[in-house]
Amino acid sequence: MVQTDLSIVDDLVVSLDYTLRLDDGKIIDSSTEQGPVEFLQGRGQIVPGLEQALYGMAVGEEKGVQVAPDEGYGERNDDALQVVPDDVFPSDLDLEPGMALQMRDPSGQVLMAYVTELRADGVLLDFNHPLAGETLHFHVKVADLRAATEEELAHGHVHDSEHAHQD
Ligand code: ZN
Repeated sequence: MVQTDLSIVDDLVVSLDYTLRLDDGKIIDSSTEQGPVEFLQGRGQIVPGLEQALYGMAVGEEKGVQVAPDEGYGERNDDALQVVPDDVFPSDLDLEPGMALQMRDPSGQVLMAYVTELRADGVLLDFNHPLAGETLHFHVKVADLRAATEEELAHGHVHDSEHAHQD
């Protein structure tokens, strides 16, 4: 069913085709291979600057959206660089620069960290998002819009119609 009267408001399920470039024009991500990304509008599932720009768009509509770092993945924070002793890591783990690791902070919260450098005094980890500090240049096209189910609204995320889901 084509719902041409729909435009993007909170709690609609949005299917979005996108291309993401950085300032240098290089494409670093797009929906070309995996198909449109699906998310619940208004639930913070995509970067804030992009989510804000989507309100009111209809199916088939497309536009360019430029997102500054503070509305994207944040500014880079030099305090988020931290040297961690080698013995924190399993000895069979082959650490390499660029590798993403899941770390736990003292409260048990999971944080992503990226190996920046292997040093004599330990491993230099960067807790910044890899796209922190970057201005994001999106080109987006609304592929589909539909109302969310009660269950999706309760869970706060989109359910894939092809797969059973329990949580
Ligand atoms: Zn669910």
